[in-house]
Amino acid sequence: MIKKLCFAILIFSACIIQAQNNSSTQQYREKIKRYLDKENALEGYYAIDSTGISMYSSPENKAKHISDYKVYWGEINWLKFLFGNFPFEEIIALLNEKKDNDMYDNASLPKRNMPADSTLKGLRIAIDPGHIANTIKQAKMEKKFIDMKADPKNGLKQDVQLIEAQLTFATAMLLKEQLEKAGATVMLTRNQPGENAFGVSFEQWMQSSLKAAVDSATANKDITEEEKQLFLTKGDSTAIFRKLFTNLETKERARKINSFLPDFTIIIHYNVDEKNTDWKKHTNKNFNMTFVGGSFMKDEMEKPLFRAEFLRLLLCDDLEKSINFSSYFVKSFEKNLTVPTAKIADADYLKQYCLPTEKPGVFCRNLTLTRMVHGTVVYGETLYQDNVKELMLLSKNEITVNGIQTSMRVQQVANAYYEAVRNYVKNSR
Ligand SMILES: [Zn+2]
Repeated sequence: MIKKLCFAILIFSACIIQAQNNSSTQQYREKIKRYLDKENALEGYYAIDSTGISMYSSPENKAKHISDYKVYWGEINWLKFLFGNFPFEEIIALLNEKKDNDMYDNASLPKRNMPADSTLKGLRIAIDPGHIANTIKQAKMEKKFIDMKADPKNGLKQDVQLIEAQLTFATAMLLKEQLEKAGATVMLTRNQPGENAFGVSFEQWMQSSLKAAVDSATANKDITEEEKQLFLTKGDSTAIFRKLFTNLETKERARKINSFLPDFTIIIHYNVDEKNTDWKKHTNKNFNMTFVGGSFMKDEMEKPLFRAEFLRLLLCDDLEKSINFSSYFVKSFEKNLTVPTAKIADADYLKQYCLPTEKPGVFCRNLTLTRMVHGTVVYGETLYQDNVKELMLLSKNEITVNGIQTSMRVQQVANAYYEAVRNYVKNSR
């Protein structure tokens, strides 16, 4: 494949790019400060100078001038093209092989453009409905549920159970229907309620894939010897789910999305009040927010894959495009759902792990999917499920979507996502 990559370079290398100058050096430094380095602690992992950008596996190696690889200014367009068009693992392998040699000077490469008509025809859209559960038992294992007793004095008239994975799945299906009617090609990361990104139930996955997953997690030192023994005897399926499966399944979602080569990706979640322990009682808070990549924490540059994603976000305009894209969703959520947009002071995790962007309600956050999904992406977190009004609205059984009984509130959320896509596409032409 590396040969194929180099062949792609040869085809286009006749074109000439603008020389990088000191102002773009400054521009990249500012981008890191603004969107990528949450704690101002990553300087030991990269260097930007008049010749290019070097990446280091540790501050110690930077002090000794031992880099993983270096990208020269003349190679930037070449690398951007690869990031947009080739499997990420192969690009990393190529970078590791080239090290600090200047191999691909002055390569300028083509970009895919949006189709020009007014429908969504020709657009490829990936949708990721967050989580998996289709029963309250599964949702409790996943820790993505509401199971609340009635509290008529405080406005909650009946017992309420909500499963976030059902809300996201129903939203995704309703959105998909509208997008396809307008001509888009849509890919969902999971296709049935209760089915995960591997296309099976968790129980089926345990039957077929647990042993291989345990072996590879052991080899990567992701789990301890004790956990390995526990997992192999299937002694604690909740621990397997949370410590092993979720991580692999999330990566499978990213792999599916990236291989679909979407024009953009919509990740759907419903939020809760973080301070509402186990969501036993309702909250009066209610906000919408969206996440994009960036905001790496100080201990998040130790893995080679994380450093390569950092470099991708720095060099490509995925982040800038995602911020702009996400701003359409924030506006549409606020307008269609009449729920306010969160500010950074509205949640502790926003203050601790996020960097605000210039667009209200759009925050950089280094989540597995905002980091691993390439291209333009919005990670939507609409409304608080444990808000007293939302509990009543979301728990109504008004419509059926793929066997899931759900509410008109979910339809409104799907409509809000759809309107955002339409406005974005209209303004991007
Ligand atoms: Zn969620």
